[in-house]
Formats: sequence, structure tokens, C-alpha cells
Amino acid sequence: MAPTGLDIYKLLPKTNCKDCGFATCLAFAMALAQKKASLDRCPHVTAEAKLVLESASQPPIKLVTIGAGENRLEMGNETVMYRHEQKFYHPAGIGILVEDTLKDNELDDKISKINALKFERVGQEILVDLICVKNTSGDSAKFLNVANKVAGMTTLNVALLSGSAKAIEEVIHNGRGRLNVPYHKQRPLIIWDGGSDLDGFVKLAKEYNLPLAITCASAEEAAEVTAKVKQAGVEEIVISVKGKRASGAIQDFTSIRRTALKKNERSLGYPLLAFTTTVEPYAELAEAISYVLKYAGLVIVKNTDKDFILPLLVTRQDIYSDPQKPVQVEPKVYEIGKVGKASPVIITTNFSITYFTVAGEVEASKVPTYIVCCDAEGMSVLTAWAAEKFTPESIDATIRSLGLEKIVGHKRLVIPGYVSVMSGKLEEITGWKISVGPREASGIPNYLRNLKI
Ligand code: SF4
Repeated sequence: MAPTGLDIYKLLPKTNCKDCGFATCLAFAMALAQKKASLDRCPHVTAEAKLVLESASQPPIKLVTIGAGENRLEMGNETVMYRHEQKFYHPAGIGILVEDTLKDNELDDKISKINALKFERVGQEILVDLICVKNTSGDSAKFLNVANKVAGMTTLNVALLSGSAKAIEEVIHNGRGRLNVPYHKQRPLIIWDGGSDLDGFVKLAKEYNLPLAITCASAEEAAEVTAKVKQAGVEEIVISVKGKRASGAIQDFTSIRRTALKKNERSLGYPLLAFTTTVEPYAELAEAISYVLKYAGLVIVKNTDKDFILPLLVTRQDIYSDPQKPVQVEPKVYEIGKVGKASPVIITTNFSITYFTVAGEVEASKVPTYIVCCDAEGMSVLTAWAAEKFTPESIDATIRSLGLEKIVGHKRLVIPGYVSVMSGKLEEITGWKISVGPREASGIPNYLRNLKI
């Protein structure tokens, strides 16, 4: 658990000298606890106190990075058990398992399919993050061949799973003693499968500065292994549990997360890795979603069907959005279709889901239409109206600032049916004719087709 202001205060000099810019040591301690100041602003703190405070201020779950560049996958740094307590920081990575027993054509198909798993939702691109190459064959030449094919065909991050550290080293060295550039530069996650060669994996992780996933049978065993691996010099560790059905794995994940956060147990303060164990697609989807919810930093699945991946990515997107910040679109005039001076104008708020729902229905109507999104701090129509963020005055200010008069050649606005109550005042303030649209977005196509401007 992060130290409180009072915990920190006890370690400060308590002279109230103000050199840190705060009136008292207590005020500085409170600012430190809220992460609004850094410890180096106090020049008088002792070396011992500094050590304690710096280590206590580390996030309880270590940040681990797989890959490099803008596609890199970051896991960890989480500080809460439940999203509503604050927010989750790093969305769980979604990876797909590729076994080295696939025939060449099957492999090409699978990688192409994985590359195509990109979708757009509420204005954001959602996609898978990683391919996990598994040395199912036990043959290091086949493993190298598949790993190289993956590196050549995708820009996604890669995890390498084998019982043999030597087989992984051959991938990193391209089997011929020189460095395999994609694998050397792209920092793959290497996964120790719980076999006898832990030392070999630790050596590899250290030598090539790679994140290392360890596979254990329980939280207790994981705590022992991470302590050993960290002592050997590996910093970026990921924990996986093996031999468990989904319910058992989730129990372990919950216990590991809780122990790391609530008891500040550093040996368990690492991101978690889950592999789906079920085969039937719906069961696998339910299992994968459960891991995204509790508390995997990376979930590896087998299925590459779009119908399978999309709900998984949507769940992740929902869970990892910031509950304190509604997803918003830019407040502006949006053009749907080939609009002209006579096109209708629909007024709504800048809550992302509201905008994309309205935009989808406008597209379905095939009536070119302007949508004016007013800045309502990302709230939906009724919420914004109740909070006085979507009012006749704010709509008037929006259409004036956007220069709507110059965009269209008429003076009629369509407002959502739920706020019909504001139509009179809005008409009076703006001087525009107000038409009350449907309450639900699903009524928009029919409404627009029959609207006379
Ligand atoms: Fe206290 Fe250090 Fe700030 Fe001085 S500089 S008031 S000792 S915290």
C-alpha cells in the first residue's frame, strides 16, 4: 500500500524550514502522498529516509514493457483492485497463440488473419497486441523457422514460449551465432514454462535485457521464484500460473493482486499472464474476458475469429477507460454524407457513445446531415441536461462559435427528444427554428427521411 501523508511526515526533518516551497513539512508530506511533489524538493531529508520513501513510493505492481517503439505493450503499474476506486492504467494485452507445429500455409493464413484483427469503436482503434510463438514441437529448428516467419510478417509484439532456454536463444541469435535483429531489438517476452531450466531463462533475460514470464503452480511458489529471479538481476518479471481451470487461476490472480496492493508484497508485485485453457469458442471467450476483468496484464488466446476477438477487445476497452473521464469526441460540426446548404442539423452532446450512436443512425438514414456536438464535458444528453451542461445558452454559444449560420443556408435545428422541454427557450435565444427529434437514436433514420427543412 502506498504510504500515507502521515507515514511520510514521520520520516521528514519536521523543521518547517520551507526550503521545499511548502509552508510545513506536513504540507509537503501530503503533497508527496498525492504525488503532487517529488522528494528531491526537500534538501534535508536523510539518506535512510530517502531510501525508505523512494522504495515505498514505487508502484506496487512493477511496470513491464514488451517490445519497443510505439507498438510496445506496457503492463502493470496498477494501484487499485477495482476500477471505480481510481482507474486501471495499462489495458490488458491480448495475444494469440501460434504453435510451431503448423504447416507453412496454415502459418501464413494464421498470421495474416491476426494482422487483420483491427477494429474501430467510438473513434478508437482497438487491436490485438502480440503473437505468442509456442515451441510445441520441441524442435528448435521448427521454432526458429516459425519465430522468424512471425517477425517477418507482423509488427505485433512477440512472446516466445519454450521448455528450452537454448531454443529461445537460438531465435535471438538466429541459430547462427549472430543477433537476430527483430528479436534482439523488439524485446520479446520470454516465457519459462515451469520446467527444470529456470537458470537458463534468467541468464537469457539478463544478457539480452528481456522481460521474463515465470510459470508457477501457486501464488506461494510464484513469490519464491520472483524473489530468486530478481535477486539474480532480472527486473521485468511477469507471473503465470499453470495447471488451473479458469476459476482457480482467477482465484490465484485475485490473491496475488490483493497481496501485492494491500500488503505491499513486492515478490508478487508483477503483472499477470493468463492462457485460455478451454477450446469451445464461447467458453474460451468467457474465460478470456474473465482474465481481462481479473487481473491479467496479458491474455493469450487460441481463437483468431473476428467474432471472438471483437467482444474481447470491446470488454477491454470498456474496463480500461477512465471512469472519471467520459470518452469524448471533439466539440465541432461533423459532416455525415455529402452535406450541402440545405442539409439538416442535429444537435447533441460530445459524449463519444452518444455521437457514434447518432452518427451511425444518420448514416443508415442516407440523408446527408450535420451533427453539432456541444461541449458537455463528455456527458450524455440527459445527464448533461440535468447537470446544466447542455442548456439553451450553451447550445447558442456553440452554434455561434462554430459559425453554423455560414455553414447552412437555413435556420432549423433538430434537438434530441429527451430535451424537448428546452425547445421554446432555445428558439427564443438563438432565433433558429427548433424541431424536436426522436428520443432514441434508433428513430433518427425515419425522422430524417420525413423531415422538411
Ligand atoms: Fe520540511 Fe524539508 Fe520542506 Fe524544510 S524542505 S519544510 S525540512 S520538508
